[in-house]
Amino acid sequence: KLVLGIETSCDDTAAAVVDEAGNVLGEALQCQREVHLKTGGIIPHVAQQLHRENIEQVVKEALSVSGVSVNELTAIATTVKPGLALSLEVGLDYSLKLVNKYQKPFIPIHHMEAHALTIRLTNQVEFPFLVLLLSGGHCILAVAQGVSDFLLLGQSIDIAPGDMLDKVARRLSLIKHPECHGMAGGKAIEHLAQTGNRQQYTFSLPMQRYRNCDFSFSGLQNLINNTIIQKEKEEGIQEGELLSCVKDIAAAVQHVVAIHIIQRTYRAMLFCIKNGILSPKHATLVVSGGVASNQYIRKGLQALANANSFAFLSPPPRLCTDNGVMIAWNGIERLRAGLGVLNSTEGIRFEPKAPLGTDISNQVEEDS
Ligand code: ATP
Ligand code: FE
Repeated sequence: KLVLGIETSCDDTAAAVVDEAGNVLGEALQCQREVHLKTGGIIPHVAQQLHRENIEQVVKEALSVSGVSVNELTAIATTVKPGLALSLEVGLDYSLKLVNKYQKPFIPIHHMEAHALTIRLTNQVEFPFLVLLLSGGHCILAVAQGVSDFLLLGQSIDIAPGDMLDKVARRLSLIKHPECHGMAGGKAIEHLAQTGNRQQYTFSLPMQRYRNCDFSFSGLQNLINNTIIQKEKEEGIQEGELLSCVKDIAAAVQHVVAIHIIQRTYRAMLFCIKNGILSPKHATLVVSGGVASNQYIRKGLQALANANSFAFLSPPPRLCTDNGVMIAWNGIERLRAGLGVLNSTEGIRFEPKAPLGTDISNQVEEDS
């Protein structure tokens, strides 16, 4: 079995060919980050235009590196939800053209399901496992019970951690920082935090009175903004000029984000064990998504897992951020499970918003 995966849900145009054993035969990725960094965020029609310019070449490159022709593919898998409408549209349109031209089965992919299942490509891990997805658009705690069977324990009630880190990075003008050239916001904060002193600032933790697994980052973002404004006043500098203390702020921000995530994940662990959803003998915590490539957050979660006798697994950073491999792999998983493989493309549409799994977040709150 050979699957071509195509991803365009946000700002990366990506494709890959993966076989049944999880071998990545070929992959290609065109990242739009540098363009969007200049405009201070993703402008959807700009992202769409870039996807249109790049998709054909990216898919061709993935196929040619893998030495596989479209005819040899078992199926084509493409992200159809959730994501930016204009971005999803490009990947879906292009895929359907290929599907119809070569008469191939089509596998519509849920982007967050793909992030969650990536770990099964890199490691041997059986269902069920606890999965924490930390990215630019999402913050989700769920139990993966099967390829397309998730229990949603909690999620961010406002913005995602990656979004928050990007906004803070923008507010601190990190794009101008000599040490952070071309880095995504979260990456720049991680880099600067390494040589900062987090004890210079303290930000209070969100949601201390909510006994559930939800997250919140926008109040925190406001607190951080206010601190930056105050500091600018003290130093007598204008917004947009670099503060001398950016490293210390970065370290404190990274720390509070990590602790918030760890607290909510701890609650999810307790809930799953107490309710027999996971067995204490072989419980596993899987962490993925772009923010999961942050070593500080990863280490914190690893320590949490160790303390609670959970195995800790996370894909390598390049598979944590958006890529074509995870989409192709999700296609393989769905083929093997006999799930969602379509032989007609009629009525297939993209969906900008799409929940992951069955929402049981109310039960978490009642239980604790
Ligand atoms: P989603 O998957 O929710 O649709 P997305 O695909 O845009 O969102 P990803 O590509 O998984 O998100 O992750 C991008 C985010 O990860 C950005 O917000 C970026 O700042 C953040 N990020 C990347 N590297 C790091 C890092 N080392 N530390 C913290 N955050 C990081
Ligand atoms: Fe993503």
